[in-house]
Amino acid sequence: MVVLKAKKIIVTGGSRGIGKSIVETLANAGATLAFSYAKNKTSAEDVLKNLPGENHFCFELDIRDSKNTEAAIQLAIERLGGLDGIVNNAGITKDQILLRMKDEDFQDVIATNLNGTYYCTKAVLKTMMKQRNGSIVNLSSVIGTTGNAGQANYAASKAGIEAFTRSVALEMASRNIRANSVAPGFIQTEMTDALTDDQKQKIITQIPLGRIASPDEVAQVVAFLLSDGANYITGQTIHVNGGMRM
Ligand code: NAP
Repeated sequence: MVVLKAKKIIVTGGSRGIGKSIVETLANAGATLAFSYAKNKTSAEDVLKNLPGENHFCFELDIRDSKNTEAAIQLAIERLGGLDGIVNNAGITKDQILLRMKDEDFQDVIATNLNGTYYCTKAVLKTMMKQRNGSIVNLSSVIGTTGNAGQANYAASKAGIEAFTRSVALEMASRNIRANSVAPGFIQTEMTDALTDDQKQKIITQIPLGRIASPDEVAQVVAFLLSDGANYITGQTIHVNGGMRM
């Protein structure tokens, strides 16, 4: 089991899905968490209530807004009393084939997934640089590598996140700040609950391990990348996809 005792970590989008599982896994490993929600305050407070350990808190954040994001992240760092890691997990899909895609749906997915990751990462760098230590973990997707019909906006945002992460890793390596992406395949969350049973069965036939993963199987990899055990890993995309893409 990964040990994150005394580590202070921010997770965006911890109110449900993979983010919720990440928050629970990190708290179980001994970390102190500040995690955000966008709209679902009640779900976030339910997650908070059931976490082991003390001093965790949740806060409202729309990562599409540059100024508010910087202010909210700074407040979270102050309240935590420092920062060892951030998980840029919050993300959305707005699927449609390109010919029918609305400009606002393309832009919203880029604004949330890619711009949001950029704003949050930039907001933690000064603190991490002063400490000469930090781990940044960005949630990508297998779709960032393969592309997907109906997900041009999402695929572009995730490929962007991976290239962004490598650039951050290069810029920050001399300060001992690591940046990595985790690219899940198909995970059991509300995002994939939207698929029909027929669509799910088709997807499963393309997964060598023959099943959709649980959010915990992504959270364990995120926890490892935040731990001291991963101190020599930076600039990587770790795929958690049951062999869908090798
Ligand atoms: P999810 O269940 O839909 O949860 C999304 C989270 O992001 C929620 O906490 C939500 O907060 C938050 N959020 C949404 N819009 C936001 C905004 N504008 N500002 C700040 N927070 C916002 O998603 P998920 O399936 O767990 O996915 C988590 C991450 O994994 C995403 O980056 C996704 O692209 C990636 N991923 C997921 C899968 C999968 O199969 N599920 C596969 C590959 C990659 P509220 O609850 O308050 O709305």
